[in-house]
Amino acid sequence: MFAEVAFPISSFQSFTYRIPRNLTNSIQIGSRVIAILGKRSVQGVIISLNTQSNYKGDMKSISSLVDDNPVLTAELWELILWMSNYYVAPIGQVMKTVMPNRLSMQYSPPKNWYAKPTNVLNEIDIEVLMKRGPKQYEILKEIRKTTGICRIASLKSPSSNLLSICRILEGKGFIKLYKQTSLPDVTGFSFDPIHKEIIFNQDQVKAINKISLALNKKKYVPFLIHGVTSSGKTEIYIESVRQVIAQGRTAIILLPEISLTPQIAGRFKAVFGDTVALWHSKLSQSARAWIWKRICAGYFKVVIGARSAIFTPLKDLGLIVVDEEQENSYKQDSRDPRYHARDVSLMRGKIHNAVVVLGSATPSLESYYNHIQGKFKYIHLPKRYGGAKYPSVHIVDLIKESEETKIYGSLFSKILLDKIADRIEKKEQVILLHNRRGFAPVLRCMDCGEVEMCPNCNVTLTYHRKESYLRCHFCNHIEKQIPSSCKECQSVNVQLAGAGTQKVEYQLNQQFPNTSIERLDLDTAKSGVNITNVLQKFFDRKIDILLGTQMIAKGLDFANATLVGIINGDTGLYIPDFRAGERVFQLIYQSAGRSGRGHIPGEVIVQTYNPQNPVIQCATQLNLRKYYDICLNERKALDYPPFSWMIRLEISGKNKNAVERATEILKKKLGNPPKGIGFLGPAFCYREKLYNQYRMQIVIKSQKRKDPNGYKLHQYCKNIINNRDSLKLKGNVRLIVDVNPVSLL
Ligand code: ADP
Ligand code: ZN
Ligand code: ZN
Repeated sequence: MFAEVAFPISSFQSFTYRIPRNLTNSIQIGSRVIAILGKRSVQGVIISLNTQSNYKGDMKSISSLVDDNPVLTAELWELILWMSNYYVAPIGQVMKTVMPNRLSMQYSPPKNWYAKPTNVLNEIDIEVLMKRGPKQYEILKEIRKTTGICRIASLKSPSSNLLSICRILEGKGFIKLYKQTSLPDVTGFSFDPIHKEIIFNQDQVKAINKISLALNKKKYVPFLIHGVTSSGKTEIYIESVRQVIAQGRTAIILLPEISLTPQIAGRFKAVFGDTVALWHSKLSQSARAWIWKRICAGYFKVVIGARSAIFTPLKDLGLIVVDEEQENSYKQDSRDPRYHARDVSLMRGKIHNAVVVLGSATPSLESYYNHIQGKFKYIHLPKRYGGAKYPSVHIVDLIKESEETKIYGSLFSKILLDKIADRIEKKEQVILLHNRRGFAPVLRCMDCGEVEMCPNCNVTLTYHRKESYLRCHFCNHIEKQIPSSCKECQSVNVQLAGAGTQKVEYQLNQQFPNTSIERLDLDTAKSGVNITNVLQKFFDRKIDILLGTQMIAKGLDFANATLVGIINGDTGLYIPDFRAGERVFQLIYQSAGRSGRGHIPGEVIVQTYNPQNPVIQCATQLNLRKYYDICLNERKALDYPPFSWMIRLEISGKNKNAVERATEILKKKLGNPPKGIGFLGPAFCYREKLYNQYRMQIVIKSQKRKDPNGYKLHQYCKNIINNRDSLKLKGNVRLIVDVNPVSLL
């Protein structure tokens, strides 16, 4: 027997191996195997089995099988094949994303050594020990101090041979040693369970009925729930999950942002208890391996997690919920396959005959358009739950404000300061959004205008005050020495410009010295515990002002937060990307939605230098339809998604000339596109260099009118991509294929 094996490499080639006798019965398509590739042992996946082979060379045998029993379900294998085809990525790479090597049924939680003092401790013996074996004595003292049992590895003693010293102590009868399994900590990333009496309103009942009808049919049905902020979408998800579990099936809930996990997990755990597993980026490796193994074994009914949770091997999957479906974090942007978890959810739902619910207060333009086209069943929730009112929104024109006050560049307008003071006085809470972290985003020469750039990336370095360094937010390059003069003109007149969350926090503390203020951004959210603590404290009303980046803009539910302030509504407005406006709109609209969710009406202050801009106008009027109409018209005029399919081809590499040459060859290979297909570029990307790689791109669009399924575009690109060799990519020059890109930067 022969097997074709795909490896996680950038080539589409697969390799033929002989199957050793002892494995013939256990190997299947989709099995993970170890085989020699070149000179290394590499993990790959079987993509086909054959009784004959035409291969003439010296054929190697498969070395071993990774899993005793097949771990890949037929459904996941089908999903892998689809992803490989759709995202034009080699199967080996897709396999690695769906089922990373480190996840294995063979994982067992580590066993550790523990010690307990024996009951019969003779004080005289201990004194002798103190004199004769001071090291042993110190360790014994520590073990005796611990209540209960003591993990050897956690002893503070500096000795390197702790265990052997403990063995001596055991030999002398002072302690008893034993080995015990320590289960990885998988809890701790959730609020205390949030119990609530639930009475559904009419809109919710209608929504639930529609979903439950679909669930009962056990067919694939995609829904778009478009419900204004605080309309009770999460309660609808919970009820739908209850129903699917009652059918003996399981559910996956995708959340776009780690900061949403604790609260939503708290709400789910209150209902479903320990049948809920969390799957997110802050899990330790062992916790991840442990949870995965238990999912395979069927312990959990519900998995709540980030985009990769869509690959968890739940059996009998009946429901997938994609909350805040418009979020870009669902797209894997940093490596192949560049998949979008929303699209993968729809396909996985199709394969499992499951219901897929996409939910949002601000649907992506794509999903909104799909609903208009009748591709999704649409559920609209136009009102907030429980009669809660929409917040009232005020625009503050920062230019006018400066003219009146003669104070320039101030972070807070007078009205915002007054309103914050008022809320603090009333013991209500405030959420402030500022979508930029660090202290100051640029260090600029005031004489020649030169700004301090990252040596590896074509972006400015951000000053972080607490750590006192300049840092690149892409490659994390750090400059500890803050330059005191300009590199270009040697002027010493260099200044920090602009404001990040650290600066907002600093000035806020000066303005409101006796207030409890916490900041949540990528810098403070390093650990999962920290995120949970801050949010739980805000929920418990122990924090007055919560300041943060887009992490706190959506999904969170705090009844006592009655004021939301957006420090700079213009952030991101002028980025040269066709989705810039849509994103700013969604951010403002969602942030406003955090205000006034309980009984007390809420207010929102949006500070801006562009009060007339249509994005700012529509967002502050909370007029989604108007903005989406404007946006759809623009996209239609330019043949942008959702009116076209798009594939972005990026060429990147260390050598700028080589990148330019390769892009030129790529363009030639593409030749003249068929009718309905057009190019943007080739051109250097807006971020011309990242991680020391120069980047050029060609963006290919295909009108949906002429290419309804995107099949034409796919075929056209695939002919070239599958023939990578003909591009003669040399050295470290790479071709990246990005199907349905979310960003063209
Ligand atoms: P969304 O997810 O649409 O933003 P949520 O589900 O968070 O809205 O609902 C907003 C608030 O109203 C939450 O505190 C939620 O618990 C409450 N709520 C929603 N529906 C109900 C219901 N049927 N019974 C009781 N409380 C509800
Ligand atoms: Zn200068
Ligand atoms: Zn950098």
